[in-house]
Amino acid sequence: MNEIIDKYHEIQHKKAAYDLALDTLYWDQLTIAPKKGQAYRNQMIAVLAGESFDLETAPESIEIIEKVCADPNVDAITKIEAKQILKDLDRIRHIPKKEYVEFVQLMGDSEIIWEKAKLTNDWDLFKPYLAKVIDAVKKTVAYRKSDLPVYEQLLDDFEPGSSIATYDAFFNQVKDNLVPLIQKINEKKIKPHEILSLRVSEEKQRKVIELLKKKLFYSDDTGYVATSVHPFSSGFSINDNRVTVAYHEEMFTSSIFSFIHEVGHATYGGQVNPEYEGRHLRSSMSYGMHESQSRMYENMLGRSKAFWEPIYPQMVEIVNELTPYSLDEFIFAINQVGSSLIRTEADEVTYPLHVLIRYEIEKALFADEINIDDLPDIWAQKMEAYLQIIPDSHSTGVLQDVHWSGGAFGYFPTYALGSAYSAQWYDHMNKTLNIEQALREDRFDLINDHLKEMIHQYGGLYTSFELFEKVCQKPFDPTYYIDYLIDKYTKIYDLQ
Ligand SMILES: [Zn+2]
Repeated sequence: MNEIIDKYHEIQHKKAAYDLALDTLYWDQLTIAPKKGQAYRNQMIAVLAGESFDLETAPESIEIIEKVCADPNVDAITKIEAKQILKDLDRIRHIPKKEYVEFVQLMGDSEIIWEKAKLTNDWDLFKPYLAKVIDAVKKTVAYRKSDLPVYEQLLDDFEPGSSIATYDAFFNQVKDNLVPLIQKINEKKIKPHEILSLRVSEEKQRKVIELLKKKLFYSDDTGYVATSVHPFSSGFSINDNRVTVAYHEEMFTSSIFSFIHEVGHATYGGQVNPEYEGRHLRSSMSYGMHESQSRMYENMLGRSKAFWEPIYPQMVEIVNELTPYSLDEFIFAINQVGSSLIRTEADEVTYPLHVLIRYEIEKALFADEINIDDLPDIWAQKMEAYLQIIPDSHSTGVLQDVHWSGGAFGYFPTYALGSAYSAQWYDHMNKTLNIEQALREDRFDLINDHLKEMIHQYGGLYTSFELFEKVCQKPFDPTYYIDYLIDKYTKIYDLQ
C-alpha cells in the first residue's frame, strides 16, 4: 500500500511543478512580459499544458488515484483529495491530446484578439472567436459523457455542488430585492461625491498601498505587489501569494479597493494548512469560497468606518487632496451606489446584477436560445431592465470582461455567490470576535486569525456548502446577504 501512496504523492508533486511553471508564465505575461512575445509564449504554454495533461491522464496515474480512492486504509483527507482529482480528471481525460492542446492554444489566441477588440471597440473582430470558443467548450464537455446540460456541468466546475436550479433560486432572490432597492436609490439622484474624482498621482497611491499592506498584515516575506491592466492575485504556494494593482489617477479609490480585494484572496491562500503544500488541496477551494474572502475584505471590512478610523489621518497625510474632507464624507463616498456600465468598478449593490446579466446570457447561449449576433442588443436590454442604464460602446458592454475569451463560462456566477457567502461568514465571525473593535484598534491580525481558524486552514478540503454546515451548523442562506445590503443602504440613503 505504501508504494501506491508514494507513487500518488510523486504524481501530485510533478503536477505541482507543472502548475508552478504555468502559473509563473501567466503571471509574467500579465505583469511584465512585452506584448510582442505573447504569441510565442502562448505556444509554449500550450506545450507545457500538454505535458501536464500527459502526466495526469496517463492510465498508470489514473489507476493509482483510483486505487487510493478505493483503499480502506488510506486516510480520510487523502481520500477526499483523490476523489476531487478524479472528478477534475473526468473533465479532460477523454479529450484526445491533440484537441486538448489546440483548445488551450485557441483560448490563448482568442484572449489576444479580445484585448485588441476591446481596445478598438470592434465587436465584429471578436465575434467569430467567441463562436469558436463556445463550440470548443461544448465539444470538450461532450467528452465527459454526462447527461447533465453543458452549462450545469460548467457551473459545477467552478462551484462544486451548484446547479442551474440553485443559481436560479439565488438570483431570483437577488433580483426581487435589489432591483427595487437600486430604483429607490437612483430616485434620490445623489451625484457621485467629488472625492471619487479627485486626481491623485500614482506615486501617492503607491504609498497608500504601503499603508494598507501594514494594516492588512500583508507581508513582503510572502507577498508581492505588481502592476497589471486588470488587478488579480496568484497563489503560487502557501508562502508565495502575489497580487497586482491597476493605478488610475482619476479614480484613486479603485486601486485601494482592488488591492484590499486581492489581499483577501492572497491571505486565504497563505493561511492554508502547511501540510497541504504541493498538494491538490492547497488550492482546490471553490471560486465562490475564494471570492467570499476577497469580497468580505473589500466591502464588509474595507468599506467600513471602523477600518479607516485609525488610518484615515495617515492617508490624508499621503493624499493631501483629501484634507478638506472628513472621515464621514470619505466613508459616504466609498459606499455610494449608482448604476454604472463596468462590472469591476460597480458598487456592492449593483454588482450582483452585473453578474446576473452574464449568468442569464451564458445560460441562454448554452441552451441555444440566443444567437451570438444578438449579444450586444441583449446585453443592452438587460442593463436597462436591471440597472436603468445602456452601454455607450461595445467596449463598455459585451466586450468588457476577459472571461469568455478564455472559455471561462460558469465562472461569473461565483462572483455574486461569493459576495453572498461573505455576508453569512461575516455574521458568523462576528459572534466570536468583535470585528468593529478589532478594526478600530488596528488589529486586522485578529480577523486574519479568525478566518484562518474558521475557513482558510482547510484549503479545498470541503465544498462551500459542506463548510457552512460544518462551521455555522446551518446551510448557506442568501438572506444574510440581502438583509445586510438592505439594512446598510437603507441607513446610508435614509430610505423608508
Ligand atoms: Zn476576486
